[in-house]
Amino acid sequence: MIEKSYVMVKPGFANHIEVINEIKKCIWALGLKIIKGEYVSYSPDLAKKHYAEHVGKDFYPKLEKYITSDVAYGMIVEGENAIAKIRRVVGSTKNPEKGTIRREMPKMIGREIDTTENVVHASDSQESAEKEIAIFEKLINSNEKI
Ligand code: GDP
Ligand code: MG
Repeated sequence: MIEKSYVMVKPGFANHIEVINEIKKCIWALGLKIIKGEYVSYSPDLAKKHYAEHVGKDFYPKLEKYITSDVAYGMIVEGENAIAKIRRVVGSTKNPEKGTIRREMPKMIGREIDTTENVVHASDSQESAEKEIAIFEKLINSNEKI
């Protein structure tokens, strides 16, 4: 099935063009299209909406502080089974597998793997993708007004 997924290069990585380019190459190598790509800055309010299922968890305050700390780079990706394909190359949240974006990309910029600052976000379902893309579109519009 043709799906849309939302991929977001997180703060501290989105300001490294070589990281963004490498992630784009991974997406293209999966046969997927990047139909939109923009730099955005998450506000605390839209961070809470994006990560709604995590608000109230012990790690949430640290996550919100991080995701709002600097510019991110959001992308709308489209193609056959886009959601599962991207999640596989992104890698697990904890102890990402060898060869995955979360495991390998921190090395590109001389960083250690970190559970919060884990390079990239990718939608986990069609429902999440729709919600996250709507937030991304909202951010593009509100950021333009600044
Ligand atoms: P994802 O779908 O793999 O990104 O993982 P989740 O949806 O479970 O969590 C969202 C984000 O919250 C992760 O990508 C991490 O940035 C952060 N996070 C999740 N679990 C933990 C945790 O146990 N500790 C810390 N410090 N951060 C976490
Ligand atoms: Mg998630």
